Amino acid sequence: MPNIEKFDLVVLGSGPGGEKGAAQAAYFGKRVALVERSAEVGGACVHTGTLPSKTLRETALYLTGFRRRELYGMSVRLDRKKSLRQLVGRLHAVTEEQTRQIRRNLARHSVSVVSGRAAFEDSRTVAVLDPDGNASRRLSADVFLIATGSSPFLPPGTAGDPDVVDSDRILNLDRVPTTMTVVGGGVIGTEYACLFAALGTRLTLVEGRDRLLGGVDEELSTAIELSLERMGAQILLGDAVESITREPGRATNALRLRLKSGRRIRADKVLFSVGRAGNTAGLNLEKIGVSVTPRGHVSVNEHFQTSVAHIYAVGDVIGFPALASTSMEQGRVAMCHAFGITYKTAMPPYTPYGIYSIPEISSIGPSEQELKTQGVDYEIGRARFENNARGQIIGEEEGIIKILFDPKTRKLLGAHILGDQATELIHVPMFVLAHGGTIDSFIDAVFNFPTLAESFKYAAYDGLQRLERRSRPSDGAERATRCDPATRSYFAGVDLSRPGLVPGRPSTVCIMDRWRRCRFVTWAYEATGSGILPEEVEAIGSVLAIGCGEEAPEDLLAGLRRRGRGIVGETSEDCVEVVLARPADLWKAWSEVGKRKGTSSPTARRLRYDILRTESLEFPVGPDAIHDDQLDAAAAAYAAYLWATKQASAQGAYVTAAAHG
Ligand SMILES: Cc1cc2nc3c(=O)[nH]c(=O)nc-3n(C[C@H](O)[C@H](O)[C@H](O)COP(=O)(O)OP(=O)(O)OC[C@H]3O[C@@H](n4cnc5c(N)ncnc54)[C@H](O)[C@@H]3O)c2cc1C
Repeated sequence: MPNIEKFDLVVLGSGPGGEKGAAQAAYFGKRVALVERSAEVGGACVHTGTLPSKTLRETALYLTGFRRRELYGMSVRLDRKKSLRQLVGRLHAVTEEQTRQIRRNLARHSVSVVSGRAAFEDSRTVAVLDPDGNASRRLSADVFLIATGSSPFLPPGTAGDPDVVDSDRILNLDRVPTTMTVVGGGVIGTEYACLFAALGTRLTLVEGRDRLLGGVDEELSTAIELSLERMGAQILLGDAVESITREPGRATNALRLRLKSGRRIRADKVLFSVGRAGNTAGLNLEKIGVSVTPRGHVSVNEHFQTSVAHIYAVGDVIGFPALASTSMEQGRVAMCHAFGITYKTAMPPYTPYGIYSIPEISSIGPSEQELKTQGVDYEIGRARFENNARGQIIGEEEGIIKILFDPKTRKLLGAHILGDQATELIHVPMFVLAHGGTIDSFIDAVFNFPTLAESFKYAAYDGLQRLERRSRPSDGAERATRCDPATRSYFAGVDLSRPGLVPGRPSTVCIMDRWRRCRFVTWAYEATGSGILPEEVEAIGSVLAIGCGEEAPEDLLAGLRRRGRGIVGETSEDCVEVVLARPADLWKAWSEVGKRKGTSSPTARRLRYDILRTESLEFPVGPDAIHDDQLDAAAAAYAAYLWATKQASAQGAYVTAAAHG
């Protein structure tokens, strides 16, 4: 039996939680040993999780020219094998440099790194086991820090097939798959779904709940759904995989999935991302009285002490939020508590959350849905990157900053950002929130120009305007006087035919002027119809066609009525400002496109684009970059124009493709 070596602290695991905890204690003069079972230090963060997925994402965005596709109207086709080498090559370079950096940090703090698997002998001694399970060293300490992380959870019966993988094994790709099904629409599943969709993989995402990224503000999570659909992905919500079988002898699409709904899918690869379990097996925690949940997570108090006071646990092994960012700080806070160092006493009440979907998301503080559930009164302020100079320069169309604040005190309650640099920008509201600041902090600040950060100021102004509007029930009286619809300056269209309209869901609105020049703006759905058209369009006068499926959006029509908007068929023609349209029917009538299968294929999209171009509509984007929702919104706007100029009639409230009789 090896002799017992004495330390002040023994750390189990060298991921972000273990590394930072060890360095914190060592910085204040403690003798520290850190045990790591893998060949390299760094944990899931460096080797299988955070850094690999983010490096792959950046490389994919770069290789596909993804960020600038729309700006320059081009897209790049990937050589799947070659691009994989580029993706993985970059990954190794980043991983190696990060590993070196962690080793240097531990060495600088004189932390003894011990190689082997740690297991408790008793509550004061850890054995370091070699691959045969024999103790090579025995370490005792006054304090222990468990930071052993987590591992992906694969449902039983799915582990045998090499093409059915989890988020650790997805990194061993031999090529970029042609088709892939991602099971689980949480953070990791959604991030990988976006990455592969951007690389051109035909992707299906299956999620059991009724939306992706549960817990994230719904306005942002629905924007990600839209973005994935724009990249050609199919999203199946409220469904689950029941079985996976392999069709023998097939080189492609060999995996056959049967879903709970009865739907069948084929795929080259299946990625399961259905949660992670704490790495506690084999640590002997039961033996020493440390409580563990059925999913292998260690239970801790607010100081990160387990049920045995001198044994602490941090990071993924304790469960939510299971982020590298929080794991590091938990490690530092825990060790300050353990050694009575008053330098850090607690985790901050608000920590940011970053999701590297495409576009990326970052949040701090409660979501709109959480505030509603808690019964907290709030007001919203929004600013969109498409209206921001930097946003226009970099071609960032989808981005949005949404702030939530107390309408009485203007105190900031939360901030949610979607778009380029979201995970960097979130630090601006983070500091306001940390100091209990109000939205006036944004209004009073001078931001660099042009920057995306400047949008915080405009989000705050938007919030103030909304506060003012609260006291004005209708703004109908302020609009231009009624006139013949044919003489209106603008014809607008919005397509709301996708199922599941929820407040805040982004929808594309097409604004067409009399010269048929179109531009696209994004509107966050509000049943009142507030903000559906830009202010100048409201003021000058327009006809808006609301595109829908079989069912008219009755709550929106009621909202528009309340705002004094005349609906076709309900008011004299001079007063009509709103008509309905069914884009699917319009396309069918205008061509054969709508009758074909696969209407969102690039060919069908090109045909639709050409139909509208033949009618002299001008678009800010070319045929390769235009999206289905933009085409449907433009079709609705054109229908509004045809109705207003008596080139199409209305049946009930719906514009048909036929001329007035
Ligand atoms: C695909 C993916 C993407 C992610 N993206 C992000 C992101 O963008 N941002 C973010 O903040 N977080 C992200 N995360 C989460 C992040 O990686 C984890 O929260 C973080 O790594 C947890 O740190 P940790 O120190 O708790 O554990 P880990 O990093 O898991 O490290 C645990 C270490 O303990 C070692 N170990 C385990 N058992 C023993 C034992 N018995 N003896 C000795 N050593 C042992 C392991 O080998 C490992 O090295 C992502 C995770 C995944 C899977």
